[in-house]
Amino acid sequence: MPVTSWRARALAGGVVLGATIVVVGVVGYLNQDWLIDRAIRHRLAHVSDHSFVNDPAQFQVLLCGTGSPEPSAARAQACTMVSVGGKLFVFDAGEGASKSLSDCGVALDDIERVFLTHLHSDHFNGLGALINQGWIWGRSQPLDVAGPTGTAAVVGALNDAYAIDNGFRMANMPELDSKRAAARADPVDIVIPLQAPSVRVYDAGGVTVDAYRVVHDPVEPAFGYIIRSHGKKVFISGDTEVSPSNLPAMQDADLVVHEAYASHLVRRAIPIMREAGMQHDAEIAERTIAYHADTIALAKQAEQAGVKHLALTHLTPYPDTAIKRHVFSKGMSEYYGGRLTVGTDGLVILV
Ligand SMILES: [Zn+2]
Ligand SMILES: [Zn+2]
Repeated sequence: MPVTSWRARALAGGVVLGATIVVVGVVGYLNQDWLIDRAIRHRLAHVSDHSFVNDPAQFQVLLCGTGSPEPSAARAQACTMVSVGGKLFVFDAGEGASKSLSDCGVALDDIERVFLTHLHSDHFNGLGALINQGWIWGRSQPLDVAGPTGTAAVVGALNDAYAIDNGFRMANMPELDSKRAAARADPVDIVIPLQAPSVRVYDAGGVTVDAYRVVHDPVEPAFGYIIRSHGKKVFISGDTEVSPSNLPAMQDADLVVHEAYASHLVRRAIPIMREAGMQHDAEIAERTIAYHADTIALAKQAEQAGVKHLALTHLTPYPDTAIKRHVFSKGMSEYYGGRLTVGTDGLVILV
């Protein structure tokens, strides 16, 4: 047997033995009780707190879902949370909303009310989970949900859909059984009088919320919401095309959280989709251009309305890198001189 071969085998054997000792050492180390306890404490420390409602002087907006209707594990669908006057309001609860809120440290049982802008599914896909999880993790009253006509029907169906689950949990947890009414949501259909642009839907503790009619044809009615407090004004657009009728809602707003549709990118993508045989995708893109807010038209309107800060959400197509966000908002600063933010999930904006 050659000497080199003998040495190579001895070396290989030594490496295997060494690696085994290291693995056994690491596994033994990781199994120490104190280390496991420490990990548990660390995990428990990272739970939701009530910091979003602790300070009544606070007025802030959390972008809890900036995604478009496209399914994605990386971002939630429509969701904007407003923390003001010591209360939490959630505007839309698309898919992933409760996960996104929890990831941001929001205690789901703190939510005062959910307002829906309209009944496209990407705005309530996560509502069932929000109703259910808020109850399991502490809510002691039914969750108030208000939205356009049809909200009561949607919420009623969600209540029914979770009834079996609720029964199983109450059978196992006396505490949940003692607050069984809180498992459900209480819906309210908001109606804006025909000739009026808006209607007040909340007025308490120095905070007002107005539902405002926006243009998202053929979705009728579709609302944006104006929140006022501390002399500040925030407008959340919901889904809307850029329309002159939105100007009063945006006028002199400190913050506008607006849906945004980069038509310049979508128009370029459509022929490429067709080339690739993606006829269905191309047709969806063509049909949605008209009823969403083109980024350039939005920039012009925000300038005209004197908006101080424009934050873009419901981003289509979704820009998931800094470069794509730059391309998404390309050209907007030529028309809008205020502060511009291309939203990302988890971003908190102080009003
Ligand atoms: Zn939408
Ligand atoms: Zn919509």
